[in-house]
Amino acid sequence: MNTEVLIYSPESIQKAAEILKAGGIVGMPTETVYGLAANALDENAVRDIFVAKGRPQDNPLIVHISSIDMLPKLVREIPDVALRLAQRFWGGPLTMIFPKADIIPAVTSGGLDTVAVRMPASEAARDIINACGFPIAAPSANLSGSPSPTTAQHVFRDMDGRIPLIIDDGACSCGVESTVICFRDGRIHILRPGGVTAEMLSEFAEVEIDKAVSAKPAENEKVLSPGMKYKHYSPKADVFIVDEHGDAFLRYCNANINGNTVAMGIGVTEQDIFIDYGATPELQAQRLFALLRKADDDGADTVYVEMPSREGVGLAVYNRLLRAAGFRVVKNDKAE
Ligand code: AMP
Ligand code: MG
Repeated sequence: MNTEVLIYSPESIQKAAEILKAGGIVGMPTETVYGLAANALDENAVRDIFVAKGRPQDNPLIVHISSIDMLPKLVREIPDVALRLAQRFWGGPLTMIFPKADIIPAVTSGGLDTVAVRMPASEAARDIINACGFPIAAPSANLSGSPSPTTAQHVFRDMDGRIPLIIDDGACSCGVESTVICFRDGRIHILRPGGVTAEMLSEFAEVEIDKAVSAKPAENEKVLSPGMKYKHYSPKADVFIVDEHGDAFLRYCNANINGNTVAMGIGVTEQDIFIDYGATPELQAQRLFALLRKADDDGADTVYVEMPSREGVGLAVYNRLLRAAGFRVVKNDKAE
């Protein structure tokens, strides 16, 4: 199959909608990361997403809508707080889990009785959904396990020959996947941190953060969000989080060069092995996946990343990095 990359325009959106209406899959821009889109209500189309990505069958997909009016048909119940959150944060990087209506096929929800729904801010994504008239299931458009794509070129790298079309709307403004929440006893429970932060959500209800966000789930432990148990977001290089800052970070990296080494620091001067991954959590979120992919392109063996702040969007950066690093956090030798 030939994979076409077309710039976002009324004509390319029309072409994407035709493919999707015929049961096909398309690479779709969103403000979080690029998605692999298919009709969320078409079992066969959704099954093809799992095949194209090599994604485990029990990892459910997020269903994308273009207006709040599309929600009631997809779910059995909408808590009041969810409606208030939708009014405040949709379109935007917030995914909410609801009891699913029968119209959602089991393959879309990974066999669960619940469904994850989000309305993106991206105009291109909403245009595609509007042109189709049905909700779109779209996981990140990378091969399962590799860093998520934040440009159309990243999608092309992973999906060339597997899908007919990618819509190119430039680099994603958020850069990490959406915040995923469910509701438990009146509280907002964060399953995956993202662009809508715990601080922002806490204005609406008490917020709790799932322990799988910052810790490695034990073997066979039941996790609320199936995606949290897989190795994720990883380049081929060995990634380590370095829990040091400033000179101590530079010292760790220089003392532990191992093969072709890249060191991603926070606001560092770019020289030798060092590259800057952004002075703020927002910039780090935007650049993280692109830099991990670049490390692979440059043939890196080892990638050191300075420990991010866990405030605001920083928690999402930390969560993705922990998984890219396989939970390996290192420090300078105390004896030094
Ligand atoms: P991705 O499609 O790669 O952005 O991943 C979607 C994330 O949402 C994964 O971590 C899933 O485990 C999570 N998710 C989707 N649907 C549900 C659901 N019904 N319950 C819990 N987590 C979900
Ligand atoms: Mg993903």
